[in-house]
Amino acid sequence: MNNNKIWLSSPHMGGNEMKYVQEAYATNWIAPLGPNVNGFEKDLQNYTGAKHASALSSGTAAIHLALILLGVKSGDEVLASTFTFSATINPIKYLGAIPILIDSEKETWNMCPKALEEAIIDRIEKGNKPKAIICVYLYGMPAKIEALMAVANKYQIPMVEDAAEALGSTYKGKAMGTFGEFGVLSFNGNKIITTSAGGALISDDKEMIEKSRFLATQARDDAPHYQHSEVGYNYRMSNILAGIGRGQMEVLDERVGQRRANFKFYKEIFDKIQGVTLLEEPNSDYFSNFWLTAILVDPLKTNGVSREDIRLELEKENIECRPLWKPMHLQPVFSDCPYYGTGVSEELFEKGLCLPSGSNLTDAERFRIKLALQNVL
Ligand SMILES: *Cc1c(COP(=O)(O)O)cnc(C)c1O
Repeated sequence: MNNNKIWLSSPHMGGNEMKYVQEAYATNWIAPLGPNVNGFEKDLQNYTGAKHASALSSGTAAIHLALILLGVKSGDEVLASTFTFSATINPIKYLGAIPILIDSEKETWNMCPKALEEAIIDRIEKGNKPKAIICVYLYGMPAKIEALMAVANKYQIPMVEDAAEALGSTYKGKAMGTFGEFGVLSFNGNKIITTSAGGALISDDKEMIEKSRFLATQARDDAPHYQHSEVGYNYRMSNILAGIGRGQMEVLDERVGQRRANFKFYKEIFDKIQGVTLLEEPNSDYFSNFWLTAILVDPLKTNGVSREDIRLELEKENIECRPLWKPMHLQPVFSDCPYYGTGVSEELFEKGLCLPSGSNLTDAERFRIKLALQNVL
């Protein structure tokens, strides 16, 4: 049997990407602006329902700009999910601000509304009301966003949604990234659609998105010479990459369908196996793009088989798997940040595993994964 590497999540082109790239080439729009950038931004608006979008060089850049636009400065506190990728937290540090890390709840694995409110009350008591909240939708799963927004609104703290993993996911039919002040998207190589590298900031606030474009192009004032009154950044998306993005947007719904089919494939396997549970939609309000299918393994119920046993067995078969995100409060670089929670994210990290979830998995690859899983369990 063919033993080629099966990736966790790899790029999957739709077919029309080259057409848009070629257009850019033919018209010499090889710049961080141009018709593909405008077209891609329109596509993102139409798809998410956000009124405005700015295409950027990365999701990390989008988070950085969102925090700048919300006025976060050195010494300010920003509340953020501890259970995430470091790119959620790094931009807080770029600004000299202080990450306040919030634990997950058990249903969606995302920010716990109760821990969020406890943290806000405590920070206010300590005399430093947080300037912003960043919630994350891990593996595409929507958070308890209504409850989170209720807390944010009660204390009047703006919400940034890190929807880098959740393009195509909705809560009660509304796209993730459109509940708070800003939504952040990523088109990195392993995301549900990719521009090889890229991101976007989405919002209903026209002025803010215009300002994000201004800051992302070195904050150039309106003058014939180069004139600057603010510190700027080089964060705009290239017109070539936006061409890939336009092609990818044509197949996004198909990709969501394929990733959801992967989840179903795994669910059928694990429904028959004691001690392995999946990250699932709590009810029909939640619609996940299932960017990655993730499981929890309880060795007390699997006859001692642990997450690591499964990961190593699949690795032996040349199948890539990855433990869940290591919480940020356990990371050496963020270990001095205040943390509010009850250890939920720590337990998820200890027991959790992401399984191969590419939209381009073949039946033969799925068969190999199934055999390997049944072998170890
Ligand atoms: C990928 C990712 C980012 C960063 O996006 P880049 O485009 O890689 O900078 C931020 N947050 C989360 C949760 C991500 O998964």
